[in-house]
Amino acid sequence: MAFELPNLPYAYDALAPHISKETLEFHHDKHHAAYVNKLNELIKGTPHEKESLEQIIKTSSGTLFNQAGQHFNHSFYWKCMAPKAGGEARGPVADAIKKSFGDFGSFKQKFSELATGHFGSGWAWLIRDREGMLKVIATHDGDAPIKHDDRPLLTCDVWEHAYYIDYRNARAKYIEAFWNLVNWDFVNHNLK
Ligand code: MN
Repeated sequence: MAFELPNLPYAYDALAPHISKETLEFHHDKHHAAYVNKLNELIKGTPHEKESLEQIIKTSSGTLFNQAGQHFNHSFYWKCMAPKAGGEARGPVADAIKKSFGDFGSFKQKFSELATGHFGSGWAWLIRDREGMLKVIATHDGDAPIKHDDRPLLTCDVWEHAYYIDYRNARAKYIEAFWNLVNWDFVNHNLK
């Protein structure tokens, strides 16, 4: 079964001024779509055609893994943001963040530093590890936490295509804007 590009869960202009309509049009309609198309090309006529996205991520490597990881990561990233969202964590994840990082400010600083400082292309994540602790990690290129049995809770895409139209090379400004968009309801849903 071929994979499909999911629609954005909001309008293209819904995240402005933090992320523009133009960025979302390119990022979703061109970049994410290209990963899905390439993924479908690569699995066609192979045993992977019968596998779920999670199974492909678990069992593949190289180009196929990168396309599958990028499809998973982008589908997850869109849901991590919402209009009229952001601010401090609330609900169960707020307590879990306190337990693991001390307070929200320490978590935010750690996540922002990792996202800003990650060399090259990749992703910053809040994950829950096998011991149930929350951690911030970065993955490189198309790598996804589910490959390593970590449960993803929140992610920020730090590939240049995620911010170059709006912020040029100023990745730190994009990360700062990202905090105005975090969909804590989705993060809480992932914690369950
Ligand atoms: Mn991207």
